Amino acid sequence: MSTTAPTSLRRRVRALNRRLEKEYGSPEKPRIDPLDELMLTILSQNTSDTNRDSAHESLRRRFDDWDEVRTAPRGELEDAIKSAGLWQQKARTMQETLEALHAERGELDLSQLNEMSDEEAIDYLTGFRGVGVKTAACVLCFALGRPYMPVDTHVHRTTRRLGLIPEDASAVQAHSILNDDSVVPPELRFAFHIQLIRHGRAVCRAGRPDCESCVIEDLCPKIGV
Ligand code: SF4
Repeated sequence: MSTTAPTSLRRRVRALNRRLEKEYGSPEKPRIDPLDELMLTILSQNTSDTNRDSAHESLRRRFDDWDEVRTAPRGELEDAIKSAGLWQQKARTMQETLEALHAERGELDLSQLNEMSDEEAIDYLTGFRGVGVKTAACVLCFALGRPYMPVDTHVHRTTRRLGLIPEDASAVQAHSILNDDSVVPPELRFAFHIQLIRHGRAVCRAGRPDCESCVIEDLCPKIGV
């Protein structure tokens, strides 16, 4: 982990977020149903936004609700979500999760998450086979309005370059570090997550980061660049 003192780390995160907010604007907090968010995040794993949206549209055209997705022949679901890639794995995870939820509660509903602490909700969601900590964090952040920061590929890359996580931190380790109060203050986690994704797509790209036109260049140690 960085040797930077916690207060200094928090101060840097606040400064970075202010600068990025000026560049990209303040993000609006969404209100998404927890089960919708869980299913759509499974669909979006390791694919582009365009392919995810195309698969989502195809899913909506073919099935009226999640119960139809649960009971559909596996091949039909795979066919509907093919454009998202990894369709066999995703179809299995979606149906197994829906089936487990149905067996447990007799209905497809995740409102019980509202009664759980953050840790309990993460543990519950990652108990479904194929649901990782990033997917669970998306449900907490976007559906439950919890101060939880998902670590996707953009957040992982940009926070590494910015020196907020160790250069060799895995995504799971990054998740623990960035959701620690000594690094990213809880009230900034949603906005900072969105800003880093925007910045990672537009400027701090995986292949060739455009450091010369970067609005946080003076705050960045450019680790590994
Ligand atoms: S200075 Fe370069 S490495 Fe640092 S955030 Fe900006 S684009 Fe990324």
